[in-house]
Parts: sequence; C-alpha cells; structure tokens
Amino acid sequence: VAPRRIVVVGASLAGLRAAETLRRRGFDGELTIVGAERHAPYDRPPLSKQLLAGTVEQSACALRRSPDLDATWRLGTAATALDPARGRLRLADGAELRFDGLVLATGCAPRRWPGELPAGVHVLRGLDDALALRTDALGARRVAVLGAGFIGCEVAATLRRAGVAVALIDVLPHPLAPLGPVLGGLCARIHAEEGVELHLSRRVAAFEGAPRLTAIRLDDGTRVEADVALLALGAVADVRWLAGSGLRLEDGVVTDAWCFADARRRIVCAGDVAVFPHPLAGERPVAIRHWSNAVEQAAAAAGNLLAPEDERRRYEPVPSFWSDQYDVRIQSVGLPERAQTLELVEGSLETRRLVALGHRAGRLVGAIAFNSAAGIAAPRRQLAEQLQRTTAAADAHVASA
Ligand SMILES: Cc1cc2nc3c(=O)[nH]c(=O)nc-3n(C[C@H](O)[C@H](O)[C@H](O)COP(=O)(O)OP(=O)(O)OC[C@H]3O[C@@H](n4cnc5c(N)ncnc54)[C@H](O)[C@@H]3O)c2cc1C
Repeated sequence: VAPRRIVVVGASLAGLRAAETLRRRGFDGELTIVGAERHAPYDRPPLSKQLLAGTVEQSACALRRSPDLDATWRLGTAATALDPARGRLRLADGAELRFDGLVLATGCAPRRWPGELPAGVHVLRGLDDALALRTDALGARRVAVLGAGFIGCEVAATLRRAGVAVALIDVLPHPLAPLGPVLGGLCARIHAEEGVELHLSRRVAAFEGAPRLTAIRLDDGTRVEADVALLALGAVADVRWLAGSGLRLEDGVVTDAWCFADARRRIVCAGDVAVFPHPLAGERPVAIRHWSNAVEQAAAAAGNLLAPEDERRRYEPVPSFWSDQYDVRIQSVGLPERAQTLELVEGSLETRRLVALGHRAGRLVGAIAFNSAAGIAAPRRQLAEQLQRTTAAADAHVASA
C-alpha cells in the first residue's frame, strides 16, 4: 500500500532531496520534515572553504528548495525515539508524529574529544560551528588543526590562504588516509610548501591553557603554540536515539541494497547516516559520506519508498568526492581506499596534475585525480559499467530465486 503520511528526519541535503523526490514522484499525502538544527537546509562544503574564508556569507550556503514542496517543517526539534511497529516518531518537544513512510537522513556529528577542553577549541560540522570557528580563527595568532583528513586539510588550506599561521597534526604518517602514502605524501608536501607546520605520526598528549588554549603538547614533548584549535577527527553517526527501535545500528543505520532499514519496508535511510551494501566494498556494508552520495541515495531511497516491490531499484552508485585545497582540486571515484595497488597513469606529482587508478584483485575499484576533471571521467565510466553488470547479475539472481 502506498504511504499517505511520510516523515523525513534530518532537514539537510539528503532529507531535502528525498522530500523533493517524493513530490516529484507524485506523492500527494502529508509530508513533514523534522530537523534538529534551527536553520533551513544549507550546504556544508562551503563551511570549510568559502564561508570560512569569508568570501561568501551564510545566505549563499542555503540549499535551493523546490517551491512546490508543500511540507510541514519542524526545525530546531530533534527526533528522540522511534517505534517502527506503531509508526510513531517522538520529538524533543514531546510531540508524537504518526507515519506510514519514514526517511532517516540524520547525517553525522563530529567526533569529540573526551573530557573538558579550554576555550578556543572547535569542531566543524554545522553552520554555527563554522561561524564560531571563523570568528576565532581569522584573528588567531596560530591555529592548530588536529586531524589531517579532508576537512582538516581544507581548513588548513583556507586559513593559510587567509594569512593565518597553521599547524596540522595527525597520528598517521601522511594526510588524507584514503589516498594512500604516495598521494597523501604529496598532500603533505603541498601543505608544507604553503607554509603549514606539519606534525605527523604524533598524538596529542595535552591541551594547555585555562580558560583559553595556549598550546598543544604532543607525545614527543613538542609544544605547539596555538590560541585556536580545530578538532577534525572525523564524523560519527549519532544513532543513540534509535536504540530500542529494532533497526540494525552500526556507525549509522544499516540498510539493504534498496535503502530499506526495516523488514516491513516502510523506513528508508539516505546520506551520511546510511550504512549499506556496495559491490565495491566487499562483504561489509559501508557508509559513503560524500555530498553526491547524499543527493543520489536520497533520490533512490525516496523512489523505492513509493515504488511497488517489482519496480524498486538497487542503489549501487559510483561513489564520488571532491576536495579543494589551495589551487588543487582532488577528486575521487569508486572506493580507492580499497585498492591494493595505486598506479599513476597520467600527469606527475611535481605538476600537481595527475590521475591514479586503484585496483584490487585485478579489478578497478577507484581512481583519484588532482586537477584533472577530464582524467577522472574515464575511470568513472568504467566503474559505472562494471557496476551495471554486477547489479544486473544480482537482479537476475533475485528474480530466479
Ligand atoms: C565542513 C564540511 C565540508 C564538506 N565538504 C565536502 C566536499 O568538499 N565534498 C563532498 O563530497 N562532501 C563534503 N562534505 C560532506 C557532505 O557535506 C555530507 O556528505 C552531506 O552533508 C551529507 O548530507 P546528509 O543530509 O546525509 O547529512 P547532514 O548534512 O549531516 O545533515 C543531517 C541533518 O540531520 C539533523 N539531525 C541529526 N539528528 C537528528 C535527529 N535525531 N532529529 C532531527 N534531525 C537530526 C542534523 O542536525 C543535520 O542537520 C563536507 C562536510 C562538512 C561538514
């Protein structure tokens, strides 16, 4: 039976795109969008780039919304409990919403440091975080960025370009772990050339200063002076509110290949919170925490929620990602972190323009490009063709079962 009352939890990229797909596919029932943040949906990629640099303001980050959405918005109110069997969702303000279709799109939260921290230590996930970091960091004597993943590296690059002194600290020997040691090493070189002080293979031993940060002490005794720090330690899905719901929870909500999280197939899940099977990932389900996945999975999940069983489609996309650091645009397709070998097929490390292909057991699993939008197109196509074949084979297997 087609749902008549759908609730979307999470009013950001995946939630908004799911809601729009529902309407585009003809859903004319009651639609409610619940969001913990008080802001209307906005885009996160500029938060570590243009918004942090001050070259765009908050209004430029707003996500464009379809004027025909006809939804009830419950912003500034988190969902706090879910009862799938009764089709009930409880909100922080005590309200209870009934649903016969649910989209979970609650994204991630930044991983936090255990214990008390001095003033001046930030995290970056939302607009309010970014505005607070900008206010503090642009006037800082020196900013320490803890964690050289994509967000840490982007913040380091943005602040350097704004003339701020930056130290970048990570426990690993090179930044951007998914790129592997060679390309991660290239990133380290680029940051060093741009004037970032790198402390790699180092752990933080202590934050010094009270009430405000003055320095960070590392495990080798080095004292990195800093009056502002960013904890860029990765993102985790906060699914504690779903404990007891019966849904399968890992670092996110586990779904099947059609984005369904429950056996009755009334609950779908999309975006950073979704953990799902993917042919490139092997046996274990994965989370693909990138912008384009949030958009594509939201559309797929919403489509499947409305579709009759025989018209549902597996969600097996070509993962893709970009990151801007200085004058370098890094792009990746597939899951290059799964590669056993990474081979440079175009360009060179010196020119900061290159394409590298990642293989596993003789098959292409991913590719990485630096400043080569054209070079990433061919591996993207090849991965799409590979996936089309495996998806068709899986569908045929289901049909014959
Ligand atoms: C600083 C930054 C820079 C980025 N840059 C890039 C980039 O360059 N390229 C790229 O590909 N990706 C980038 N990303 C990743 C990309 O933004 C995410 O993949 C995308 O935002 C995921 O969308 P989502 O809707 O799944 O989750 P989110 O955007 O995290 O939104 C989830 C929403 O759900 C809300 N919520 C959570 N729990 C509840 C609850 N219980 N009840 C109600 N609401 C709830 C949250 O408050 C949030 O508003 C970046 C992310 C960040 C933080």
